Order: sequence, then structure tokens, then C-alpha cells
Amino acid sequence: MNCSKCLQKAVFSSPALCKNHFLAYFESKVKETIQKYKLLPNKKIKLVVACSGGKDSTVALYLLNKWGYKPTALAIDEGIKGYRPHTLLDLQKFCRENKIPLQIYSFQKEFGASLDKILKKLGGHPCYACGILRRYLLNQKSRSFDVIATGHNLDDESQSILMNLCNGNLALSANLGPKTGAFSHKKFTERIKPLYFCSEKEVMAYSLLKEFEVSYHECPYAYLSFRGKVRDGLNELELSEKNVNERLVKNFIGLLPAIRKKYSSAKEPQACRICGEAGRQEICRACQIVEQLVGNKTTVLKQQTSC
Ligand SMILES: [Zn+2]
Ligand SMILES: [Zn+2]
Repeated sequence: MNCSKCLQKAVFSSPALCKNHFLAYFESKVKETIQKYKLLPNKKIKLVVACSGGKDSTVALYLLNKWGYKPTALAIDEGIKGYRPHTLLDLQKFCRENKIPLQIYSFQKEFGASLDKILKKLGGHPCYACGILRRYLLNQKSRSFDVIATGHNLDDESQSILMNLCNGNLALSANLGPKTGAFSHKKFTERIKPLYFCSEKEVMAYSLLKEFEVSYHECPYAYLSFRGKVRDGLNELELSEKNVNERLVKNFIGLLPAIRKKYSSAKEPQACRICGEAGRQEICRACQIVEQLVGNKTTVLKQQTSC
């Protein structure tokens, strides 16, 4: 197959493009998303990129750095043996080579236990505790920045839309989209997704063509997640129903203003009684986990300042 724009051999099939034309196509897609959805109104904005050392966040970090947004990289070390340590090494190397400042925060230091230890002690679904604690730290540690960019791609978004629908959690979908906007609150850093319209395949191809040293393995706990099942289902559907992820996301964007309107009047977040962070309950879910970990309320209350 040849490139649809020149006679060179195509490295990507849909659209059929050679290496140079694919790289240009991918970059202009990300640029258009940033412009159309006003993700980054100017280059003075204080930007942090949530990084994992994986392909998606590394691609987002690379492009935002290349285009002069001067990002800081922020990574969370959940403490997943055999997985996270080497992705963090990849990220450290990438940041060093590209002269990007990097901040790493760990569950161990911030909550007193790694994810592996938390799961051993509390049991439950790994993604539950991990998701809550990771979002908590990302939000707390990004507070001195204006915007936090993530590496979420089109496939991730399509999975989230479907998961929220399946779970009857439409209110959560109000916070999806290229940029959060259901409600603004001084304790929530605005989140943007520059790779919003890039498929998983496209991000993978870009990362491989740029020869980024990143891990293409997924988290060892991922196979247990509902997201993994939804992803497998959508991937299978994509084989016969072309662009099903893209259609799902584009239709969703059409509905998003109505969803946001419906849920914008929802209860304002309140300050957690223990840590003061914004949450939906009197004690935020991160503090509830720490409370269970320590196993005694008095000890937890003493930890107020560190949580
Ligand atoms: Zn070409
Ligand atoms: Zn709390």
C-alpha cells in the first residue's frame, strides 16, 4: 500500500500514509483539538502533564513540550511491583533527555502504603483504591498549576462513555470531553486531553515511529477491570463496524452540553472533614481508604496534615 499523499510506502493503513505524512497528520490532529476546544489559550499557562511512562502520556508530554508550553511532568508511583518501577525509569530518562522537570509522588510516602500493600490489607478491586488515590494525588499535587493534561485517547474516552452508561453513572460523564467543565471549583485543577481524537492505534504508531522508549505493557491489574472488558468488546466491534469508537465519541460530544446542563446543578463538592480536599462526602473517599488501612479512627485523625 502506498501513501495517499505521495508515492512512498505507507506505514499506516487508515488513513494510508507514509512515515512523514503520518507524523504530520497526527500532530495536526492534536493541534486542531487544542485550538478548537481552547485547551491551552496561551503559552504562559502553567501546565503539568500527568505521566505514567507509557506511550499516551509520553506522546502528550513530548508534543506539548515541542510546541513551547513548558510542561512539568507529574507521576504517581502507586507501588505496583514488577511494573511501575521500570515505567518510571523510562519517564525519568525521557524527561532528562528533553529537559522537562519531573515530580514523582508515591502512595507509600503519601498514604503510608503501596498499592500492593493496600490490596493485601484491604482486598477489594485493585482499580477502586488505585483510581481514588491516584486522582486524589494528581489533583492535590497539581494545584499550583493552571491546567493538568492527560494522555487519554479516543479509545479511552469511548470506553469511559460506555462504562458510565452501563453503570448508570451519567453524572460522571458530565466531566468527560476534551476539557473538564461540568463545574469549576478552586480545589479542582482543570483537566485537558490533547489526544482526545487520536485512536489508540494512532498514538501507538506515533510513539513507535518516534522510537520513544516507553513500556507498551499494561498494568498487571488491568485484566481484572471492567474497562478491560469494555475495551475488548469495543475492539471486536471495531473490526466489523469501522470507526465505532470515533462515532461513539463524536455523538457523545453532541450530547455533552445537555448532560452538563442537567448535572451542573448537582450538589457542590464539600471540604473533607479530615484532609480538607473537595469531595462528595463528609469524609473523602481517599481518607476513607486511609482510615481503613490504619484501622483506627484516632490514628487517622492525627494524620490530618499528611493526607
Ligand atoms: Zn506520504
Ligand atoms: Zn480527605
